[in-house]
Amino acid sequence: MKESELYYRSTRGDAGHIPSAEAMINGMASDGGLFVPSFIPEIGMAFSGLSDMDYKSLACYVIEKFLPDFSAEQIRQCVDNAYDKKFDTGLIAPVVKSGDTFFLELYHGATAAFKDMALSILPHLLTASARKTGLEKEIVILTATSGDTGKAALDSFSDVKGTKIIVFYPKQGVSLIQERQMVTQEGKNTFVCSIEGNFDDAQTGVKKIFNDRKFNELLKEKNLVFSSANSINIGRLIPQIAYYIYAYLQLLRMNEVEEGEDINLVVPTGNFGNILAAYYASLMGLPVQRLICASNENNVLYDFINTGVYDRKRQLKMTMSPSMDILVSSNLERLVYDLCEQDPAVINSLYKDFSEKGVFQITDEMKEKLNDFWAGFATEEQTIEAIRDSFKKNNYLIDTHTAVGYHVYREYREITSDRVKTVIASTASPFKFPRSVIRAISRNDAEYEQDYKNLDEFALLEKLSELTGVEIPWPLRGIGSKKVLHNNFCRVDKMKDFVSDALGI
Ligand SMILES: *Cc1c(COP(=O)(O)O)cnc(C)c1O
Repeated sequence: MKESELYYRSTRGDAGHIPSAEAMINGMASDGGLFVPSFIPEIGMAFSGLSDMDYKSLACYVIEKFLPDFSAEQIRQCVDNAYDKKFDTGLIAPVVKSGDTFFLELYHGATAAFKDMALSILPHLLTASARKTGLEKEIVILTATSGDTGKAALDSFSDVKGTKIIVFYPKQGVSLIQERQMVTQEGKNTFVCSIEGNFDDAQTGVKKIFNDRKFNELLKEKNLVFSSANSINIGRLIPQIAYYIYAYLQLLRMNEVEEGEDINLVVPTGNFGNILAAYYASLMGLPVQRLICASNENNVLYDFINTGVYDRKRQLKMTMSPSMDILVSSNLERLVYDLCEQDPAVINSLYKDFSEKGVFQITDEMKEKLNDFWAGFATEEQTIEAIRDSFKKNNYLIDTHTAVGYHVYREYREITSDRVKTVIASTASPFKFPRSVIRAISRNDAEYEQDYKNLDEFALLEKLSELTGVEIPWPLRGIGSKKVLHNNFCRVDKMKDFVSDALGI
């Protein structure tokens, strides 16, 4: 298929043929489904031909294939504006070898989490899309966050002309540092509100507002239009594909793999966005043997991959990896769409069950296609142990989310004896979660309780740096003394009112 013919359609079948610019602006299809590309383009060049490319050039190369309605120059501009000095390394997404494992560090951007990889470019893609489609409305980004998306989106949309951004986060469901990052956000067009409930409540509330026809009409009258910065937006997924291919190029340069040699990818997973990007990279031709999905104690995806039953009817647990405290993984719908040979009727029926009963089950035939995936999960204790093990054995500091991935990786090796080279997506800086990390690397519980337990997270941030000799990433320096600029809280049923107030409608 010719790349110029690539378009977007809804997993639920009712949105027609949509060019990428429109899919990005809409965020979500009007039939309640998610936009998917009509086919996945191939990498189309030998890796040796790509291997001289820097991050930006590779990102352009990959993104162009998915956005045929954009010119190469338009994409180049978006990429140049995104992956610049905000990143503290020119490699943007470096692969680091630690022991027998490779970590793809995705946290070198403006908010110290992997969400920066996609959110630094999304505002540029969206404003370019608006110009392209002749949209003269102001774009209102509406986002639910489990902690990291919120800050990354606020930061990237802050004071971007023609946009406003509204972020909802669960009051009890994010770390103190994540919260402080959000409520200190500057920018006249930024709005932040905590809600009573968990991430799933926030996400459901946002989806409801998105699909509220009357409210959308009202917005239209005021010359406003909603879009999403969550990973349901295809404009977030596509830039994420690039770093998996880039990781492979780095392995080639490091002489760790030979051209065409298979690798495994481990992805600490919540909303299934990051691992879906890895899956798309494999469909493009990246030689991936196994996609390993790592969950915390909210292990819905572990159950799904092993049994074919997706069941959200369980209590959400608050863990030390809050950005993965999710029971409804939105992007899974895009994978299930592939499993059923892209049949919208099947998706509609499964997701009808899901919204009515909280559970759906795929057929054996569909489940068979999940064989390239492997799933595991880490308990809280195993997460702590993984941080400790990595630091003690390899002097390599990892955050709680990455630790979930590291634990699952070790388990995978033990169970399968597979020795294929493996890259673990490292999704956040350990300095975003200093309490758990310090607890893990303390000599023992007594030392933690005596020296650290009573300090707040901002003091622990400094301690962690002293203790390990690792520098605090620039976005987190001095965060404890920054001025709080947002102080809002509401119940889920009042989220719409908050939006109205923020927009003055
Ligand atoms: C968002 C996030 C995840 C989960 O990524 P998904 O794309 O939602 O699966 C994992 N780790 C961190 C640190 C995150 O911020």
